[in-house]
Amino acid sequence: MKIESMSQQPSRREIARNAKPMVCYAVENLPPKKGGDGLYASLRTAATDGNASLVSSLVIPPCDARSWEVPAGHIWRIVCSHGPQVADMNCWSLRNPHERFYTSKTRQIHSTHLTTGDRLWSNMPYLRPMATIIEDTIAYGFDDDGAGVHDVIGSRCDPYTHNLMTGENKNDCCHSNLVRAALRDGLNEMDVHDVLNVFMCTGFTRDTNQYFAKPSPVEVGDYIEFIAEIDLLVSASTCPQGDVSVACGGGGEPRTYPLTVEIYKPNEGWLEGWGWSSSEVSGYGGDHGLTCNIVVDGAPS
Ligand SMILES: [Zn+2]
Repeated sequence: MKIESMSQQPSRREIARNAKPMVCYAVENLPPKKGGDGLYASLRTAATDGNASLVSSLVIPPCDARSWEVPAGHIWRIVCSHGPQVADMNCWSLRNPHERFYTSKTRQIHSTHLTTGDRLWSNMPYLRPMATIIEDTIAYGFDDDGAGVHDVIGSRCDPYTHNLMTGENKNDCCHSNLVRAALRDGLNEMDVHDVLNVFMCTGFTRDTNQYFAKPSPVEVGDYIEFIAEIDLLVSASTCPQGDVSVACGGGGEPRTYPLTVEIYKPNEGWLEGWGWSSSEVSGYGGDHGLTCNIVVDGAPS
């Protein structure tokens, strides 16, 4: 009887297939942005409104990487200045390179693809906003294939996967570009981490859930812009795949272009006037149950 009544219950497989997806993290429960939504709306036009001024700029040559420092509260912009080109970006706390961009938690908190308002979170045990996207002129959303722009789902093109697939030794890839930049910054290959795929258009296929790319929709004049929530070292590689209109190993030489990086400094006291300040590390105490769950005679004390 028991077996019979149990068989009438839906199986765990059926329950899962019929259940509605639950979003895991309620973004509205995150601590509010310091300075409020009014500040972040104003940041989108801080430079054109005269609230921030350009203090430096640099060019990332094609198929290479460059690094730059951004003090907390400064703004950096990656500009499509010469032609359609994607970039792979890393960032670290300037004072502590162990604290770095944490793509998987950022993906869980926000989305597979980032846009204006989303934050770049750092790894545990810090887990705080390193930067916030304040403008994304592409604002692509998601197309009919489920593709979006600026993903945190893929990693970077690298010589190890290429070697697995072809047996070749190939150095012109974003990972190697980022490694050379890291070495110039006193870091090493182990500091290079999963990236924000700036301007890249990607998704997962509907039928097999495989990672795919499309030609980037970026046009000359487009940019993505961030405010540094802590002092940062940022690095970005101009991908040898260019705008990714040619599949890896698909034949044909992709056209590649430089990208321009601009760094802006807000006027003295402007951010503070809104109540903005640098983000703080996680408030978790860090005990991990090491001292509070001592078991005495089988019962928690
Ligand atoms: Zn690449």
